[in-house]
Amino acid sequence: MWRSFSPKLGIDLGTTNVLVFIPGEGIVLNEPSVVAVSDDNQVLAVGSEAKLMIGRTPESIRAYRPMKDGVIADYRVTEAMLRYFFHKALGRFNIIRPEVMISVPAGVSSTEKRAVVEAAAKAGARNAYVVKEPILAAIGAGVPIYEPRGHMIVDIGGGTIDVAVISLGGIVAANSVKCAGNRIDDAIIDYIKKNRNLAIGEKTAEEIKIQIGSALPLEEELIMEIKGRDLLSGLPRTAELRTNEVVRAISRELREMVKAIKDVFQETPPELAADIIDHGIIMTGGTSQLRNFPELIRRRTNVKALVADQALFCVAKGTGVALEHLGTYKKSIITKR
Ligand code: ADP
Ligand code: MG
Repeated sequence: MWRSFSPKLGIDLGTTNVLVFIPGEGIVLNEPSVVAVSDDNQVLAVGSEAKLMIGRTPESIRAYRPMKDGVIADYRVTEAMLRYFFHKALGRFNIIRPEVMISVPAGVSSTEKRAVVEAAAKAGARNAYVVKEPILAAIGAGVPIYEPRGHMIVDIGGGTIDVAVISLGGIVAANSVKCAGNRIDDAIIDYIKKNRNLAIGEKTAEEIKIQIGSALPLEEELIMEIKGRDLLSGLPRTAELRTNEVVRAISRELREMVKAIKDVFQETPPELAADIIDHGIIMTGGTSQLRNFPELIRRRTNVKALVADQALFCVAKGTGVALEHLGTYKKSIITKR
């Protein structure tokens, strides 16, 4: 039967990165979720190529992120993006239409979900399924989601922190707040501007965060030399930055993220809260890798927290696992075509 030859693609449509997973192969593609569009609305480039255009484009080209803050801001562009990723991931098999599983933010409406399925169909999918991201993150992190026990998944990416309590394959309590990696980067830019009179770019801010950043002060601080433009002279200049300054710079953002977690505990039934104490909070997404983030969460909530294996890939892995076991996960699969 033809059907069984359909290639399968799992897609994590993140705010920052799009990951494509093929069952049996793993992650085959990992590119920024950026699309470059011309004045007359033609899609010029997608992914890594489009990201290079950010900040370097002539006025007639716009490079933007169609998945703003975890919400699909532009469906036409999303369709173009999906088409590009289907082709790139499938290579020589691209004459056969794939079956695709796409992650959607937990908070999207059913209209938005249908729109994602439409966009995937227009982009060439034979069948498109969508599953809520926290469920996929849990599956990818190896959580037995169908147990009658509570598990808390905290996915912290670029645009949003998504907190969900899952039991029996469903979401019992959830919260999504637009404060994550990008906001941390912005806070670092602001801090250095105010305290060092130095303008730095987003890329430098991200490097600072990853290389010396931390959610808690360190006794032995890490030090980094940073380069930017002096705000007074307008000339390039270097400065030295230490970990504990970064901790201070991002403290407000950290507090906001911790609050997003506490708010979900408030709505969690006591039996499930007890289960979460036993298992610990499971963290996924790129920003969960910020130094000492699990320890900060443990101190503020009194519940232990741990970062899942391959935290950046859990959602993508979850799409792959769900595709391979459509029968098992059908209760959680929201739209089919
Ligand atoms: P999304 O799902 O929104 O696309 P990801 O889960 O891919 O996001 O995470 C991207 C975010 O993770 C970015 O803000 C990036 O700077 C951040 N990030 C990646 N690695 C680290 C790290 N080691 N420490 C802190 N932040 C990190
Ligand atoms: Mg993500």
